[in-house]
Amino acid sequence: MLRAEAAALSESERLTTLAHELGRVDREWAILAEGNCSMLTDAGVVRVKASGAGMSRATTDDFVDVPLNELLSLIDRPGAGDADVQDVFDAVATRSRGRRPSVESLLHAVCLDQPGVTWVGHTHPIPVNAILSSSRPTLLTDGALFPDQVVVLGTRPLLVPYVDPGLHLAQEVRRLLRERAGDVPRAIYLQNHGMFALGNSSAEVLQITEMAVKVARVLIGACSVGQPAYMDPRQVARIDTRPDELLRRATLQGKGVA
Ligand SMILES: [Zn+2]
Repeated sequence: MLRAEAAALSESERLTTLAHELGRVDREWAILAEGNCSMLTDAGVVRVKASGAGMSRATTDDFVDVPLNELLSLIDRPGAGDADVQDVFDAVATRSRGRRPSVESLLHAVCLDQPGVTWVGHTHPIPVNAILSSSRPTLLTDGALFPDQVVVLGTRPLLVPYVDPGLHLAQEVRRLLRERAGDVPRAIYLQNHGMFALGNSSAEVLQITEMAVKVARVLIGACSVGQPAYMDPRQVARIDTRPDELLRRATLQGKGVA
């Protein structure tokens, strides 16, 4: 698809296209009803995939709208529990043709509340999950292996120890992000679960996921012949701040998803 055509797509159509890309059968990043994606509208509404809808065949009807503040106040409510989540999601279903938000909508809200983040994709890619389900999940966050990883994923991805998906996971990630004080990760890795890509366009979410999958594959390859040899942190810092690499990063972020 040409960039001009991609630009003409509505936000909902772009979100559906992103779901199809993240759920592409040959990629195996999300099978069956795994994974979900979301975006934040200018009106402060989270548009997120409904529970049970498959990514590869999602239509615009498979997404529901929930005000960001409604989800954040639920996450921050002292003593909130599963019954409170059910109440909020029931109310959404009542006004959304019976469609309920995905259980991971709460974590999408936490990500979309970060500065500069307007698009989010969540997947369970096999190479990433192979490392996240191993005894060495920190391989994904211990360092950078090659320059393009730094350009696309940045230098400080976040690794989250396993937490029951839903309200408690959203609360834990919100706490961890607050500790970073505005240092927004582009990738969040969830131990024994999967990954979140945080971007400012659908294209960036796709690129982050693609690069995380490549990094995981390279790590698995490096471990098969020895130990990963991470780049010198000074070289990583240089890549992260070089003007030509910053330009390349900005160019990548502006590309259409299709
Ligand atoms: Zn998941």
